[in-house]
Amino acid sequence: MRNTIRWKRRFTQSVVAGVVSCLTTTSMVRGQGTGPLPYRPGIDVTDYAITLDLPQRGASIEGRAVLSVRRWAPVDTLVLDLVELRVDSVLVDEKPVTFARTDSLVRVPIASVVGDSFSVTVRYTGEPKDGLIVRTDSAGRWTAFGDNWPNRARNWIPSIDHPSDKATVTWTVRAPSERRVVANGELMEETPLPAQAGSVPRTLTRWRESRPIPVYLMVIAAAPLVYYDLGREGCGVGEFSSCVRQSVYVFPESRDFLPGPFVHAPEMVRLFSELIAPFPYEKLAHLESSTRYGGMENAGAIFYADAPFRRRTMQPGVIAHETAHQWFGDAVTEREWSHVWLSEGFATYFEALWVERFAGDSAFRDEMRQTRQQIFKAPEVASRPVIDTTQTDLMALLNTNSYQKGGWTLHMLRTLVGDSAFFRGLRSYYLANRHSNALTDDLRRAVEASSGRPLGWFFDQWLRRPGFAEVSTSWRYDAAQRRVIATVAQGTRFGAYRFPLTVAITDAAGKEHRATIDVPATANTTVIVPLQLDAAPRGVAFDPDVRVLATFQSR
Ligand SMILES: [Zn+2]
Repeated sequence: MRNTIRWKRRFTQSVVAGVVSCLTTTSMVRGQGTGPLPYRPGIDVTDYAITLDLPQRGASIEGRAVLSVRRWAPVDTLVLDLVELRVDSVLVDEKPVTFARTDSLVRVPIASVVGDSFSVTVRYTGEPKDGLIVRTDSAGRWTAFGDNWPNRARNWIPSIDHPSDKATVTWTVRAPSERRVVANGELMEETPLPAQAGSVPRTLTRWRESRPIPVYLMVIAAAPLVYYDLGREGCGVGEFSSCVRQSVYVFPESRDFLPGPFVHAPEMVRLFSELIAPFPYEKLAHLESSTRYGGMENAGAIFYADAPFRRRTMQPGVIAHETAHQWFGDAVTEREWSHVWLSEGFATYFEALWVERFAGDSAFRDEMRQTRQQIFKAPEVASRPVIDTTQTDLMALLNTNSYQKGGWTLHMLRTLVGDSAFFRGLRSYYLANRHSNALTDDLRRAVEASSGRPLGWFFDQWLRRPGFAEVSTSWRYDAAQRRVIATVAQGTRFGAYRFPLTVAITDAAGKEHRATIDVPATANTTVIVPLQLDAAPRGVAFDPDVRVLATFQSR
């Protein structure tokens, strides 16, 4: 997602054979390998079928969620996240069970279930305190928008509310007919319901997302929205059909703003499809909404804050950012929150790649220069690494580390291995983890394979250490060798970094020559720049293309 300020694997363990013969407590299930324990060990929800009845007035909803569950380790209790709402009944394989309720969990006994796949049906009612934001807008209209990031879906969806457990979802929503219901996936049905005496007309709307997505992206909108078709211009770039259907849903008073910045939406989908892979979902809708974020990348149904629509100030950058998330964050999802840069850093950098493609190199350099300045100023960059395993406040992960420094890390990776190996590596990382989960090492291995270079040092220095390089440079002309000798000294605050550094030398005749030197992770480096010059140069510039996350001072 993006802040309102401008800037602002799947578990691959197979089902454990013979699981029913040795049912024990969940404490017997241990995480495998390194890293934190899985969120709900041994359990994988593969599908949610959620039916909601929305009221004419007020915020009380009635819900029925049918979860298709797979168990791959001995687990005798299914623990679902659900905050506060009243649970009326729970069925396992359609038989009622006695469940236990806490303020935030529903514990469902599954010890007697035979087999490794079963269904769990939860009927529930109440007013969600968060997650599904029900409100009456300034024009007196009832609206509801899902807004789940990071773990607020549990306020209205009984779920395994963690990015590591992805599932397909079907939404069946019954609501007053004056509201339009939009959700993830493909529209399957819009059916007027039989009229009931004394009640307003109601419509049943059904949407189906057939690709697994994390719960934090599962949303509906129900509001008096009008539909604007952006057409099928993005053709030849869809995973589902050759053309990606895009549309915008807005409140009626925003209609004359369209297409506005959404005129660029087809070219964004085309660019990212060319760079990475076909668009991963059934359609892409853009919605004016009540999200607390500037934009929220819900799969196939991006929600944007309404204020920029009302003020007519919405810019294409946020659209590029949320659109890029459809590939990175949505289709390939970080398995742990501490790796959220795999979502936000990618969206930040792909927004810059859109600028590079459509506004040119100089606009791209300006963008990277600006984000670099933001990184230098951010206290969290100086104190914490991008992969921040100690941060337990998930909202605090929405910071300059995850966004700008994550994006800058991709920029430097591209510089290090070159465009061809960089994009080949990103494509293979994407295709290997599409509709599943990944961690940073999956990206590292993909780019190591595409570039043929070990990159552990690179990911460690930029993502697992706080800070950035602080460099002072000097140079002199050695007339005997006819070479420039450059010295690079690195500050001690964050330690020394290893990086390639481009040097641009303007010769006595005013012509520019470039060479790239390898700066090792040492305090002081002296390098002979491999360019022959017949006379002392007029000037030497370090990092002219804005490719190193370093402050530069000349001595
Ligand atoms: Zn984002």
